[in-house]
Amino acid sequence: MLGPVILAASRSDRMRRLISAAPVTKQVVDRFIPGETVDEIVPVVRELTGRGLELTMDVVGEDITRPEQAAAARDAYLELIDRLEKLELGTRAEMSVKLSMFGQALEDGHELALKNVRPVVEAAAAIGTTVTLDAEDHTTLDSMFAIHEELRKDHPQTGCVIQAYLFRTEADARRLAAVGSRVRLVKGAYKEPTEVAYQQKHEIDKAYVRILKVLMEGDGYPMIGSHDPRLISIAQELARRAGRKLDEYEFQMLYGIRSDEHLRLAAEGHRMRVYTAYGTDWYGYFMRRLAEKPANLLFFARSTLTK
Ligand code: FAD
Repeated sequence: MLGPVILAASRSDRMRRLISAAPVTKQVVDRFIPGETVDEIVPVVRELTGRGLELTMDVVGEDITRPEQAAAARDAYLELIDRLEKLELGTRAEMSVKLSMFGQALEDGHELALKNVRPVVEAAAAIGTTVTLDAEDHTTLDSMFAIHEELRKDHPQTGCVIQAYLFRTEADARRLAAVGSRVRLVKGAYKEPTEVAYQQKHEIDKAYVRILKVLMEGDGYPMIGSHDPRLISIAQELARRAGRKLDEYEFQMLYGIRSDEHLRLAAEGHRMRVYTAYGTDWYGYFMRRLAEKPANLLFFARSTLTK
């Protein structure tokens, strides 16, 4: 029951100010967001890739209110890509971006987000890697899919995310499961109304399996974004039935969550990509991680109160 309350708080400016100013220990935030600057994140990139993991890098931030912030987001990604070039990781380190950070919700936001994200996609391609567009709340998705389609004209490897909790997603998956597409399937992390989304865990899990089947049987490249052990073994079975080799799909998990499982799957020969977020605007990302597992809240509260 706490999850929806925390998710509502994740979009509240008042709560953002309160929690961001609270004596949240670095330790709590670091568990999910292991750095605030490029200099802090580069050693993390080296360490994780050195252990045989692949990465998708996220500069945290979303729901910006001024065009200058969108330009700053673009520049932050360009700086990151510049640093990644020297590490010569190619597709072992790709980028994940949230279009709301690139201005999608501002006036003429669709065009603004496309204008800001395009140089990031081009810079990523220039160093031999790619970008995946994260999925945010359902009101943003038509614009996200249109931007995805536009970017794919020049950079077909650009990926996108679909969310199993939305009723629309099975149809989106059928449209996207085509040659050359890269699609990450997740359960969905936002507070969505009953008109558009399943609310119960068992319904979401059932939808996840249905949609994953569509992706596995299709011609694209499925990226399984989940920590759920049951879904991970179902994914392995579906991949086997679809005749996919180990490099024809991948698992993705978030930094700080089930880290042993990251290493176990990589050691079994799977492509395992860790979504690694860094930056100072961590509030929304951090609150969604608390909402997914309200037990995290205890850890958070204990650390805050003992400071
Ligand atoms: P759950 O049933 O929630 O969790 C399964 C198990 O994983 C839990 O029992 C627990 O052991 C562990 N676990 C899960 N979450 C946590 C946590 N926060 N803290 C501690 N343990 C936890 N959502 C979007 O809406 N848009 C996106 O673009 C998006 N991108 C993502 C990218 C990746 C790589 C991943 C892994 C997730 C992404 N998500 C995104 C989040 C996703 O929608 C889910 O909210 C999140 O993955 C939790 O769902 P689950 O599949 O892990 O299953």
